[in-house]
Amino acid sequence: PLALSPEDPKWDVDLVGIAPGPRMNATFVSLARNSDVWDIARSIRQVEDRFNRRYNYDWVFLNDKPFDATFKKVTSSLVSGNTYYGEIPKEHWSFPEWIDQEKAKKVREDMAERNIIYGDSISYRHMCRFESGFFFRQPLMLNYEYYWRVEPSIELYCDIHYDPFRVMAETGKKYSFVLSLYEYVETIKTLWDSTKKFMKNHPEHIAEDNSMGFLSDDNGDSYNHCHFWSNFEIGNLDWLRSKPYMDYFESLDQDGGFFYERWGDAPVHSIAAGLLLNKSEIHFFNDIAYWHVPFTHCPTGEKTRLALQCHCNPKENFDWKGYSCTSRFFDINGIAKPEGYENQQD
Ligand code: GDP
Ligand code: MN
Repeated sequence: PLALSPEDPKWDVDLVGIAPGPRMNATFVSLARNSDVWDIARSIRQVEDRFNRRYNYDWVFLNDKPFDATFKKVTSSLVSGNTYYGEIPKEHWSFPEWIDQEKAKKVREDMAERNIIYGDSISYRHMCRFESGFFFRQPLMLNYEYYWRVEPSIELYCDIHYDPFRVMAETGKKYSFVLSLYEYVETIKTLWDSTKKFMKNHPEHIAEDNSMGFLSDDNGDSYNHCHFWSNFEIGNLDWLRSKPYMDYFESLDQDGGFFYERWGDAPVHSIAAGLLLNKSEIHFFNDIAYWHVPFTHCPTGEKTRLALQCHCNPKENFDWKGYSCTSRFFDINGIAKPEGYENQQD
């Protein structure tokens, strides 16, 4: 079977050792600076040891500056597939001409004073806008159908015993996550107003069986700030390149909130997935154990943790804690929560 869980009575431990089956048209993708080299090296080593050494998928690296020789040498030695290095064009990493520079500067100064994380940063805003609207359109990405985003300094705590790309392809999934939480309100104050404007202008793009219940507690009137944490993502690139997604991104970009506020790519991707996709197209990967500072996803279910040789502490699993939105995802999809979740709520 494609993705048998170790919790299943039919589980066979030999599944971890072999990598059978076809390869998907897929790549890892990392946005990084040259100075990130040792932190991305750590992430690559984890991904290779736990998964890719048996599958040898490619890895695309993107940067707003040219990658240096050290970055290329270190990363290409670690990746078992082919590596490609892309320089992002200026137009994808700068202020659009309709942005009022004075207004944007005032916002940064004000956010700095209020100690809002990355509130004073220009480059962080370019990064969030790039991840929202441009990474999937880079020439190096055009040949692929699926991507897996990897950031510097992440941790994978368990073996990955099947090909997640193949799960996505064969079950018709377009977007997936391992961690979800509430967004910092100060950074996205008008994102939902912009989203509502888009919904009004483009009712044809809203999916029939969407996940509004994940995003809103009052049927769309207000945003509850739930989002999938986008530093981990496995998704379908053709969906991001589709008209519904592109219309959504362009509508947000025109409104200017990437610069007049500090809209993150996580809420942007999440709202898009929640509204433009059917529920059945979004997937939660319980089996992929993951850490990005400061949150951990450690699989619920001891049998899984032992079978996949996990080294995470189940007490640190964020899924069922108060600040996570994952239990809401289970509820709106009518999925039963895994056995033992009650013991991980605080
Ligand atoms: P955080 O996870 O929100 O704290 O943000 P990170 O610092 O991890 O940045 C998110 C991603 O964007 C990571 O993959 C970084 O390597 C990358 N990144 C952030 N800023 C820049 C930048 O100015 N240039 C480049 N090339 N990559 C960046
Ligand atoms: Mn990060």
